[in-house]
Amino acid sequence: MRTKLVAGNWKMNGNLATNQALLGTIIPRLAPLTRARYAVCAPFPYLAQVQDALRGSNIALGAQDVCQFDAGAYTGGVSAAMLAEFGCRYVIVGHSERRTVFGETDEVVARKFGAAIHHGLTPILCVGELLAEREAGVTEAVVSRQLDAVIAGCGLAALGKAVLAYEPVWAIGTGKTATPQQAQAVHAFIRARIAGADRRLADELVILYGGSVKAANASQLFAMQDVDGGLIGGASLAADEFIGICRAALDAEETVRA
Ligand code: PEP
Repeated sequence: MRTKLVAGNWKMNGNLATNQALLGTIIPRLAPLTRARYAVCAPFPYLAQVQDALRGSNIALGAQDVCQFDAGAYTGGVSAAMLAEFGCRYVIVGHSERRTVFGETDEVVARKFGAAIHHGLTPILCVGELLAEREAGVTEAVVSRQLDAVIAGCGLAALGKAVLAYEPVWAIGTGKTATPQQAQAVHAFIRARIAGADRRLADELVILYGGSVKAANASQLFAMQDVDGGLIGGASLAADEFIGICRAALDAEETVRA
């Protein structure tokens, strides 16, 4: 059975003081919400701080990127082993900002995914189409190509150790959320495509939605059959918003279990 997961992606935001204040608010307020799962993906320099603050809480630690190489002359790189040493459970790979701003190809994303799995991290693999691609009617082809690169590089079974995030690029940081029906359609497509190769893996695969999720729209999105939670950017930096989204995930989880 899939359990709802809400992961905050802080992106390149925060400092020692604001991180402490944010965590100081969310940690005690999420503590009683035990039936869903939560994570925050912090910038690299703050992993130690956030690891320390999260100790003993029900919030897992994640990073936002990982180097595809294990060690060596890769200036600026941060390896999966390093992330594991700082207590990371999750790492986002293939976020659209990495793909579009930093030029990461499907093949590089697949190698990063493999590095994460190899070191026992759970990759949160982001896939999603640009606005022009949606308008051209190629959303499914784009998402399939992004997924296929990972399956070709790492094998289908590796998806069983990962979380997927469907993030339409036109909805990220724009305030334009996909409708619950639009999200559900792509999530169902992804699950059905994987089910074609392995039904059990597909049934157990957690697929998050990301793209301008807020406390006000989270419940409708999380009520969709194939939406297993959210990857949250901007709203993860505001304690009340993030807690509201986590509560929506908990409510959706309790509805499914009832
Ligand atoms: C993200 O960065 O993954 C994201 C979904 O951002 P936002 O929630 O701000 O749209």
